[in-house]
Formats: sequence, structure tokens, C-alpha cells
Amino acid sequence: MSLLEIRALQKGYRSPDGQRQAVIDIPEFSLAAGQAVALAGPSGSGKTTFLHLIAGILTPDSGSIRIDGQELVGMDEHHRDRLRATAIGYIFQSFNLLQGFTCLENVLLGMSFGSGIDRSRAEALLRRVGLADRLHHFPRQLSTGQQQRVAVARAMAGRPKLVLADEPTGNLDPANAKESLALIRESCAENGSALLLVSHDRDILKAFDQVPSLADINRAARSLPLRA
Ligand code: ADP
Ligand code: MG
Repeated sequence: MSLLEIRALQKGYRSPDGQRQAVIDIPEFSLAAGQAVALAGPSGSGKTTFLHLIAGILTPDSGSIRIDGQELVGMDEHHRDRLRATAIGYIFQSFNLLQGFTCLENVLLGMSFGSGIDRSRAEALLRRVGLADRLHHFPRQLSTGQQQRVAVARAMAGRPKLVLADEPTGNLDPANAKESLALIRESCAENGSALLLVSHDRDILKAFDQVPSLADINRAARSLPLRA
């Protein structure tokens, strides 16, 4: 059994003129436990929509998403929230750190929904990402690269089986991007987490053995108006 199994997944949005535009049409996609896969796709190809569907943040129009044997589609909100909190670590495109909380508190909050608060583990995670001396700083007191590291530590907080990373290096300079990608991959490997990363950055994607294009698996991406 795969960790993530997707079948006949469809999602569309209604455009301002009332037309429905298909954004995701994925007949089949799967990810094995511990596997690291990067998907390439230009802006507008449905990368964020895809990850939001897997995380249960968005609901598909039809299809099936099984995570660790549990069907996400049709699950009530309560169980979906629990599954997300316990099985998934999400590194958002814009980090989504809570600005009113320190780095340590951001990681602790990440734990509180899933595996439970473990302060020494939260501190260890922040040390692991090179922020031992920034535990009590607020996100705005950090560089973009450092904020990204907090987001990585928070994503790993609940020992997720699946880590989703949405253009995690998009806001970083090339040196920081490379370092951040290495950190994400090492953290996933250490924790045994599978990684599904989406990006349009060819330099970053080069680090993966195989980089399928989202258009290869997503029939809708072939007909979307994309920006390079
Ligand atoms: P990517 O992350 O690859 O840039 P997205 O998944 O954000 O792509 O968006 C894919 C397509 O869906 C785009 O054409 C975008 O305009 C459209 N889209 C995304 N979110 C919405 C929404 N809430 N309402 C309408 N259209 C949307
Ligand atoms: Mg996006």
C-alpha cells in the first residue's frame, strides 16, 4: 500500500465570467512511504491547489485521496483536521508563521494539534535548523531564510509521514534556497517522512533524481493559461 494514493482527482474553479475551469484532473498519482518526489510546474499550473487538496484544506469536486489507508474525500471536518495534524507537515509558500508568537511557540503550536507538546523536541528541532539562538525571536525579527527554517521545524514537529512543500525556496536567494532544500530533504530522511515538493525553479528541481512535470500527471494543466 502506498502512503498517498490519488485516483480520478478533479478540481475546478469558477472564473469571474461564471465558466468552470478545470485546474486539477489527475487520473492517478501515488507516493510510497519515505519517498521524495518533486513536481515541476509553472505558475498557474495547479501546484498549490494540488497540495491543498492533499492536505484537506480544499475539497475536490470528485475523486479519491487516501493517506496512510484513510480516505480523505468525504471525511468530516473533525477527522480531516486530525488526519492533517497527525500525518501531514505543510511548508507553505509564504511560510504562514503566526506573527504574534515566537519561533519556539510556532513550533509548539504545530505540535499541539498533532503529537502533543514536547518542549525539548521543539527546541531540538529549532537547533537542528540552525536557530538555537533565535528561540524567543518573533518571525518579523528574522530574515526570510530564517523564517523558512522555522516553517521547516514546525512542519516536522508532529513527525509527519508526509511533508508537503509548496515552492519552499521561492522567496530565498540561490544560496539560501539550496541550503533550505538540503535541510528539508535531510529532515524528511531523518524522520522517515515522504516528501512531495512542488516548484517552478529548475535549479532546485535539479537536486532530485526524477522530476515529473505536473502536466505529466495533471491533464488539466495541459490546457491552462500558464505564466512561465
Ligand atoms: P500554482 O500554485 O501552480 O501557481 P494554483 O494552484 O495557485 O497554481 O492555481 C491554478 C489555477 O487555478 C490558476 O489559474 C488560478 O488562477 C486558479 N485559481 C486558484 N485558486 C483559485 C480560486 N480560489 N478561485 C478561482 N481560481 C483559482
Ligand atoms: Mg502556488
